[in-house]
Amino acid sequence: MVLYRFPFPLSLLNTRDKIFSNYEFIETGYRSQFSGLPGTGWRMSSIVEQILEEKRKQNAVILAHLYVDGEVQEIADFCGDSYYLSQMAQKTDAETIVFCGVEFMAESAKILNPEKLVLMPDRAADCPMAHMATPDDVAAFRATYDDLSVVCYINSTTELKTVSDVCVTSSNAGKVISNIPNKHILFIPDQNLGGFLAPQFPDKEFHFVDGYCHVHNFMDPSEVEALMAEHPDAKVACHPECNPGIRALSDYIGSTTGILKYANETDAKEFIILTEIGVAHRLRLDNPGKTFYFPETRPVCPNMKKVSLEKVLRVLKDHKDPIEVDPDIAEKAKNCLIKMHQWGG
Ligand code: SF4
Repeated sequence: MVLYRFPFPLSLLNTRDKIFSNYEFIETGYRSQFSGLPGTGWRMSSIVEQILEEKRKQNAVILAHLYVDGEVQEIADFCGDSYYLSQMAQKTDAETIVFCGVEFMAESAKILNPEKLVLMPDRAADCPMAHMATPDDVAAFRATYDDLSVVCYINSTTELKTVSDVCVTSSNAGKVISNIPNKHILFIPDQNLGGFLAPQFPDKEFHFVDGYCHVHNFMDPSEVEALMAEHPDAKVACHPECNPGIRALSDYIGSTTGILKYANETDAKEFIILTEIGVAHRLRLDNPGKTFYFPETRPVCPNMKKVSLEKVLRVLKDHKDPIEVDPDIAEKAKNCLIKMHQWGG
């Protein structure tokens, strides 16, 4: 069963199933047709109803990453990976954006929508990897290589985006890099995603810093091998943020959305999934006849798990601590996000 923090009754389960069936898969993410829960008197239903009411009153849109808890994914208007959410943030005409994810995502939304109110349910939800490269690192590489393009994973600080040439996500990195004329690529901050991409561009020379996502980097290949031995018919799908040992064991390597698509479209009945466990929610809903296994050491991002329904409601009500980005910094950082959208399709 999917991870929920408190039990809910069967009647509510049925309602939730209905809600899920109203989700429409649109290419790279999920757009909700969610129109509200009938009043059940249950605590969660009450919170959900209040969120929907506030959302309507304030012309707000809720964006949720696939790594946040399932119940938060359910109340989102749009649910997907970083690229999809960045696209939705760019397109929305809502006045307020509630970003259920980590800080770099909400900051990117603010950079793309400086006039909008951008809120995070928990301002402490940050991605450690975003801080694993610095402008000084970039300056040092620029001083060494004339023909250098700085490619910045969207999981990075705004400051880092101001000194980069283009942003990428794991969904569009290949497409974006194929547009870059330079010989030298400094790929920051994730050396695992960079290491996955580099062999696809043999004419280029990739350079890295020592950045990684702790959730994906520290998965243990021996645990995965044990799972594979236990489930020999299972297909193995991993995120490119995983370490090379994990990638070498995988039948499929792709973004969070890519993994969902792979599981949806592949005939196999069993899958070993090597990315953050929040995707289990969507995988199981989309594929009731399939079984998904995760490593015993659960890949859980503690920052994504800071987001809760209660916090979504609270921030919608109090508007506390909205995302602010200095306009001059935002203008500089925006260039590499805009270029990503132009080149990434
Ligand atoms: S899963 Fe990894 S990359 Fe994503 S927010 Fe958490 S620490 Fe950052």
